[in-house]
Amino acid sequence: SYAIGIDIGGTKTAIGLVGADGEVRAKVSLPTDQTVKPEVMVDRMAAAIQDILAAQGIAEAELLGIGVGAPGPLNTKEGKIAEPPNLRSWWNFPVVASLARHFSRPIRLENDATAAALAEKWLGAAKDAEHFVFVTISTGIGAGIYSHGKLITGASGNAGDVGHFVVDPSAGTCVCGQKGCWEYVASGTAVTRQASALLGREVSSKEAFDLAAVGNTSIKELVAKVFENIGVGCVTLINTFDPEKLVIGGGVSQVGAPLFDAVRDYVAKYALNPSGRQTPIVPAALHQDAGLIGAAALVHISY
Ligand code: ADP
Ligand code: ZN
Repeated sequence: SYAIGIDIGGTKTAIGLVGADGEVRAKVSLPTDQTVKPEVMVDRMAAAIQDILAAQGIAEAELLGIGVGAPGPLNTKEGKIAEPPNLRSWWNFPVVASLARHFSRPIRLENDATAAALAEKWLGAAKDAEHFVFVTISTGIGAGIYSHGKLITGASGNAGDVGHFVVDPSAGTCVCGQKGCWEYVASGTAVTRQASALLGREVSSKEAFDLAAVGNTSIKELVAKVFENIGVGCVTLINTFDPEKLVIGGGVSQVGAPLFDAVRDYVAKYALNPSGRQTPIVPAALHQDAGLIGAAALVHISY
Protein backbone atom coordinates (compact mmCIF):
# COMPACT_ATOMS: atom_id res chain seq x y z
CA SER A 1 0.00 0.00 0.00
CA TYR A 2 1.20 3.49 -0.84
CA ALA A 3 0.95 7.01 0.47
CA ILE A 4 1.88 10.33 -1.08
CA GLY A 5 4.18 12.48 1.05
CA ILE A 6 4.43 16.21 0.38
CA ASP A 7 7.13 18.24 2.14
CA ILE A 8 6.51 21.95 1.59
CA GLY A 9 9.58 24.08 2.22
CA GLY A 10 10.37 27.76 1.79
CA THR A 11 12.30 27.14 -1.43
CA LYS A 12 11.27 23.70 -2.66
CA THR A 13 8.48 21.18 -2.31
CA ALA A 14 9.33 17.48 -2.39
CA ILE A 15 6.64 15.00 -3.39
CA GLY A 16 7.03 11.24 -3.21
CA LEU A 17 5.20 7.95 -3.47
CA VAL A 18 6.15 6.01 -0.34
CA GLY A 19 5.49 2.34 0.33
CA ALA A 20 4.47 0.70 3.61
CA ASP A 21 8.13 -0.17 4.26
CA GLY A 22 9.17 3.48 3.85
CA GLU A 23 10.67 2.91 0.43
CA VAL A 24 10.45 6.01 -1.80
CA ARG A 25 9.25 4.51 -5.05
CA ALA A 26 9.13 7.76 -7.02
CA LYS A 27 9.69 11.42 -6.22
CA VAL A 28 9.85 14.89 -7.72
CA SER A 29 10.94 18.26 -6.43
CA LEU A 30 9.14 21.47 -7.41
CA PRO A 31 10.37 24.97 -6.65
CA THR A 32 8.06 26.58 -4.05
CA ASP A 33 7.20 29.56 -6.19
CA GLN A 34 6.11 32.29 -3.78
CA THR A 35 5.41 34.71 -6.64
CA VAL A 36 2.26 32.77 -7.56
CA LYS A 37 -0.85 32.14 -5.46
CA PRO A 38 -0.66 28.99 -3.33
CA GLU A 39 -3.67 27.63 -5.30
CA VAL A 40 -1.45 27.64 -8.38
CA MET A 41 1.26 25.74 -6.47
CA VAL A 42 -1.36 23.20 -5.39
CA ASP A 43 -2.40 22.76 -9.05
CA ARG A 44 1.25 22.05 -9.90
CA MET A 45 1.59 19.66 -6.98
CA ALA A 46 -1.59 17.82 -8.01
CA ALA A 47 -0.33 17.50 -11.59
CA ALA A 48 3.00 16.12 -10.31
CA ILE A 49 1.16 13.57 -8.16
CA GLN A 50 -1.02 12.49 -11.12
CA ASP A 51 2.15 12.06 -13.20
CA ILE A 52 3.78 9.91 -10.51
CA LEU A 53 0.67 7.73 -10.14
CA ALA A 54 0.35 7.30 -13.93
CA ALA A 55 4.04 6.42 -14.33
CA GLN A 56 3.83 3.88 -11.51
CA GLY A 57 0.55 2.40 -12.72
CA ILE A 58 -1.19 3.13 -9.43
CA ALA A 59 -4.80 4.34 -9.26
CA GLU A 60 -5.67 7.13 -6.82
CA ALA A 61 -8.15 4.79 -5.15
CA GLU A 62 -5.25 2.54 -4.14
CA LEU A 63 -3.60 5.31 -2.13
CA LEU A 64 -3.94 5.18 1.64
CA GLY A 65 -3.87 8.95 1.67
CA ILE A 66 -1.77 12.08 1.34
CA GLY A 67 0.43 13.43 4.13
CA VAL A 68 1.62 17.02 4.14
CA GLY A 69 4.48 18.41 6.20
CA ALA A 70 4.90 22.19 6.29
CA PRO A 71 6.78 24.79 8.30
CA GLY A 72 4.85 26.13 11.29
CA PRO A 73 2.97 27.83 12.69
CA LEU A 74 0.00 25.94 11.23
CA ASN A 75 -3.58 25.40 12.19
CA THR A 76 -3.91 21.65 11.65
CA LYS A 77 -7.40 21.61 13.15
CA GLU A 78 -8.55 23.73 10.21
CA GLY A 79 -6.07 22.22 7.74
CA LYS A 80 -4.41 25.59 7.26
CA ILE A 81 -0.96 27.06 7.02
CA ALA A 82 -0.98 29.83 9.67
CA GLU A 83 1.85 32.36 9.62
CA PRO A 84 5.21 30.71 8.86
CA PRO A 85 7.92 33.39 8.47
CA ASN A 86 9.53 31.61 5.50
CA LEU A 87 6.29 30.90 3.64
CA ARG A 88 4.69 34.32 3.64
CA SER A 89 2.72 33.89 0.42
CA TRP A 90 0.93 30.91 2.03
CA TRP A 91 -0.28 32.68 5.17
CA ASN A 92 -3.76 31.44 6.23
CA PHE A 93 -3.99 29.22 3.15
CA PRO A 94 -6.36 26.23 3.56
CA VAL A 95 -3.94 23.71 2.06
CA VAL A 96 -5.94 20.60 3.00
CA ALA A 97 -9.19 21.88 1.42
CA SER A 98 -7.29 23.00 -1.66
CA LEU A 99 -5.70 19.56 -2.14
CA ALA A 100 -9.08 17.94 -1.49
CA ARG A 101 -10.40 19.60 -4.64
CA HIS A 102 -8.01 17.34 -6.58
CA PHE A 103 -8.06 14.12 -4.53
CA SER A 104 -10.67 12.17 -2.64
CA ARG A 105 -8.33 10.19 -0.36
CA PRO A 106 -7.69 11.29 3.28
CA ILE A 107 -5.27 14.19 3.71
CA ARG A 108 -3.27 14.87 6.89
CA LEU A 109 -1.25 17.98 7.74
CA GLU A 110 1.43 18.35 10.43
CA ASN A 111 4.36 20.60 11.19
CA ASP A 112 7.49 19.43 9.33
CA ALA A 113 9.53 18.74 12.51
CA THR A 114 6.65 16.71 13.95
CA ALA A 115 6.48 14.70 10.72
CA ALA A 116 10.25 14.12 10.75
CA ALA A 117 9.99 12.86 14.35
CA LEU A 118 7.33 10.39 13.25
CA ALA A 119 9.63 9.18 10.46
CA GLU A 120 12.36 8.48 13.04
CA LYS A 121 9.81 6.49 15.05
CA TRP A 122 8.64 4.59 11.97
CA LEU A 123 11.98 3.72 10.38
CA GLY A 124 14.83 5.50 12.10
CA ALA A 125 16.67 6.14 15.34
CA ALA A 126 13.60 6.02 17.61
CA LYS A 127 11.96 2.79 16.40
CA ASP A 128 12.02 1.20 19.83
CA ALA A 129 11.21 4.32 21.88
CA GLU A 130 7.89 5.16 23.55
CA HIS A 131 9.27 8.50 24.78
CA PHE A 132 11.68 10.53 22.68
CA VAL A 133 12.38 14.05 21.49
CA PHE A 134 13.54 14.72 17.94
CA VAL A 135 15.33 18.04 17.46
CA THR A 136 16.20 19.48 14.07
CA ILE A 137 19.03 22.03 14.00
CA SER A 138 18.95 23.70 10.61
CA THR A 139 18.12 27.23 9.41
CA GLY A 140 16.02 27.39 12.57
CA ILE A 141 15.39 24.87 15.36
CA GLY A 142 12.29 22.74 15.76
CA ALA A 143 11.28 19.58 17.56
CA GLY A 144 8.87 16.71 17.46
CA ILE A 145 7.88 15.25 20.81
CA TYR A 146 6.74 11.68 21.24
CA SER A 147 5.51 10.73 24.69
CA HIS A 148 3.74 7.63 26.02
CA GLY A 149 3.68 6.21 22.51
CA LYS A 150 1.92 9.26 21.05
CA LEU A 151 3.00 12.33 19.15
CA ILE A 152 2.34 15.54 21.04
CA THR A 153 0.88 17.83 18.41
CA GLY A 154 -1.01 20.32 20.60
CA ALA A 155 -4.42 21.86 19.92
CA SER A 156 -3.45 23.48 16.63
CA GLY A 157 -0.43 21.40 15.56
CA ASN A 158 2.23 23.73 16.89
CA ALA A 159 3.59 21.81 19.87
CA GLY A 160 7.35 21.40 19.70
CA ASP A 161 8.18 24.84 18.35
CA VAL A 162 11.10 24.86 20.76
CA GLY A 163 13.30 27.17 18.67
CA HIS A 164 11.67 30.02 20.58
CA PHE A 165 12.57 28.89 24.09
CA VAL A 166 14.63 31.76 25.45
CA VAL A 167 18.10 30.57 26.43
CA ASP A 168 20.13 33.80 26.49
CA PRO A 169 18.20 37.05 26.99
CA SER A 170 21.46 39.01 26.66
CA ALA A 171 21.65 37.99 22.98
CA GLY A 172 19.93 39.94 20.19
CA THR A 173 16.33 39.99 19.01
CA CYS A 174 14.85 36.94 17.30
CA VAL A 175 12.44 37.00 14.32
CA CYS A 176 9.65 36.33 16.84
CA GLY A 177 10.43 39.50 18.81
CA GLN A 178 11.85 37.87 21.93
CA LYS A 179 15.50 38.19 22.90
CA GLY A 180 17.95 35.31 22.73
CA CYS A 181 15.73 32.47 21.56
CA TRP A 182 17.31 29.02 21.25
CA GLU A 183 17.41 29.27 17.45
CA TYR A 184 18.83 32.78 17.67
CA VAL A 185 21.91 31.42 19.47
CA ALA A 186 22.20 27.80 18.31
CA SER A 187 21.02 27.33 14.69
CA GLY A 188 22.94 27.31 11.41
CA THR A 189 21.75 30.89 10.97
CA ALA A 190 23.28 31.80 14.35
CA VAL A 191 26.65 30.37 13.25
CA THR A 192 26.52 32.21 9.91
CA ARG A 193 25.57 35.52 11.54
CA GLN A 194 28.28 35.41 14.21
CA ALA A 195 31.05 34.00 12.01
CA SER A 196 30.35 36.61 9.31
CA ALA A 197 30.49 39.43 11.88
CA LEU A 198 33.76 38.07 13.24
CA LEU A 199 35.52 37.69 9.88
CA GLY A 200 33.93 40.72 8.21
CA ARG A 201 32.69 38.73 5.22
CA GLU A 202 29.92 36.28 4.37
CA VAL A 203 30.74 32.94 6.02
CA SER A 204 28.44 29.91 5.66
CA SER A 205 27.86 27.77 8.71
CA LYS A 206 29.55 24.86 6.92
CA GLU A 207 32.68 26.98 6.34
CA ALA A 208 32.63 28.13 9.97
CA PHE A 209 32.55 24.52 11.19
CA ASP A 210 35.42 23.68 8.83
CA LEU A 211 37.47 26.66 10.10
CA ALA A 212 36.80 25.60 13.70
CA ALA A 213 38.02 22.09 12.90
CA VAL A 214 41.35 23.34 11.52
CA GLY A 215 41.90 25.46 14.62
CA ASN A 216 40.91 29.05 13.84
CA THR A 217 40.81 30.23 17.46
CA SER A 218 38.04 32.83 17.38
CA ILE A 219 35.76 30.70 15.20
CA LYS A 220 36.51 27.71 17.39
CA GLU A 221 35.30 29.62 20.46
CA LEU A 222 32.18 30.74 18.64
CA VAL A 223 31.35 27.22 17.50
CA ALA A 224 32.02 25.82 20.99
CA LYS A 225 29.57 28.37 22.41
CA VAL A 226 26.95 27.40 19.81
CA PHE A 227 27.37 23.71 20.68
CA GLU A 228 27.00 24.58 24.36
CA ASN A 229 23.84 26.51 23.54
CA ILE A 230 22.51 23.46 21.68
CA GLY A 231 23.21 21.53 24.88
CA VAL A 232 21.32 24.09 27.02
CA GLY A 233 18.13 23.58 24.99
CA CYS A 234 18.58 19.80 25.01
CA VAL A 235 18.81 19.80 28.81
CA THR A 236 15.54 21.76 29.01
CA LEU A 237 13.85 19.23 26.72
CA ILE A 238 15.23 16.28 28.69
CA ASN A 239 14.17 17.80 32.02
CA THR A 240 10.71 18.56 30.64
CA PHE A 241 9.89 15.30 28.86
CA ASP A 242 12.15 12.66 30.45
CA PRO A 243 12.73 10.91 27.10
CA GLU A 244 14.40 7.53 26.61
CA LYS A 245 16.55 9.22 23.99
CA LEU A 246 17.05 12.48 22.21
CA VAL A 247 17.49 12.34 18.42
CA ILE A 248 19.25 15.22 16.63
CA GLY A 249 18.83 15.85 12.89
CA GLY A 250 18.87 18.78 10.46
CA GLY A 251 21.68 20.25 8.34
CA VAL A 252 23.85 21.36 11.27
CA SER A 253 23.82 17.83 12.76
CA GLN A 254 25.87 16.76 9.71
CA VAL A 255 28.86 18.26 11.54
CA GLY A 256 28.80 14.98 13.45
CA ALA A 257 31.11 14.06 16.32
CA PRO A 258 32.20 17.56 17.47
CA LEU A 259 28.56 18.55 17.94
CA PHE A 260 27.39 15.28 19.45
CA ASP A 261 30.38 15.06 21.83
CA ALA A 262 29.76 18.63 23.06
CA VAL A 263 26.02 18.07 23.56
CA ARG A 264 26.61 14.74 25.34
CA ASP A 265 29.15 16.41 27.68
CA TYR A 266 26.74 19.22 28.51
CA VAL A 267 23.80 16.87 29.10
CA ALA A 268 25.97 14.57 31.23
CA LYS A 269 26.85 17.56 33.44
CA TYR A 270 23.61 19.47 33.72
CA ALA A 271 20.50 17.39 33.02
CA LEU A 272 18.67 16.22 36.14
CA ASN A 273 20.45 13.41 37.89
CA PRO A 274 20.66 10.56 37.42
CA SER A 275 18.32 9.52 34.60
CA GLY A 276 18.48 12.78 32.64
CA ARG A 277 22.27 12.79 32.53
CA GLN A 278 22.30 9.32 31.05
CA THR A 279 19.92 10.15 28.20
CA PRO A 280 21.37 8.79 24.94
CA ILE A 281 21.89 11.58 22.38
CA VAL A 282 21.80 10.01 18.91
CA PRO A 283 21.91 11.24 15.32
CA ALA A 284 18.80 11.02 13.17
CA ALA A 285 18.85 7.98 10.88
CA LEU A 286 16.96 9.60 8.00
CA HIS A 287 18.53 12.43 6.06
CA GLN A 288 17.76 12.23 2.39
CA ASP A 289 14.00 12.38 1.83
CA ALA A 290 13.39 12.68 5.61
CA GLY A 291 10.77 15.39 4.99
CA LEU A 292 8.69 13.48 2.50
CA ILE A 293 9.04 10.18 4.36
CA GLY A 294 7.80 12.02 7.47
CA ALA A 295 4.85 13.39 5.51
CA ALA A 296 4.01 9.89 4.24
CA ALA A 297 4.36 8.54 7.80
CA LEU A 298 1.38 10.74 8.75
CA VAL A 299 -0.70 8.39 6.60
CA HIS A 300 1.15 5.10 7.04
CA ILE A 301 1.28 4.89 10.81
CA SER A 302 -1.08 5.91 13.58
CA TYR A 303 -0.01 8.61 15.98
P1 ADP B 1 16.41 23.65 6.12
O1 ADP B 1 16.71 24.58 7.25
O2 ADP B 1 15.99 24.35 4.88
O3 ADP B 1 15.49 22.53 6.52
P2 ADP B 1 18.88 22.08 6.42
O4 ADP B 1 18.30 21.13 7.40
O5 ADP B 1 19.78 21.53 5.36
O6 ADP B 1 17.79 22.94 5.68
O7 ADP B 1 19.69 23.13 7.28
C1 ADP B 1 20.37 24.20 6.71
C2 ADP B 1 21.42 24.70 7.68
O8 ADP B 1 22.32 23.63 7.97
C3 ADP B 1 22.26 25.82 7.12
O9 ADP B 1 22.60 26.72 8.18
C4 ADP B 1 23.49 25.10 6.59
O10 ADP B 1 24.61 25.95 6.56
C5 ADP B 1 23.65 23.99 7.59
N1 ADP B 1 24.29 22.81 7.01
C6 ADP B 1 23.85 22.06 5.98
N2 ADP B 1 24.70 21.05 5.70
C7 ADP B 1 25.71 21.16 6.59
C8 ADP B 1 26.90 20.41 6.85
N3 ADP B 1 27.23 19.35 6.12
N4 ADP B 1 27.68 20.81 7.86
C9 ADP B 1 27.34 21.89 8.60
N5 ADP B 1 26.25 22.64 8.42
C10 ADP B 1 25.44 22.28 7.43
ZN1 ZN C 1 12.22 33.52 18.75
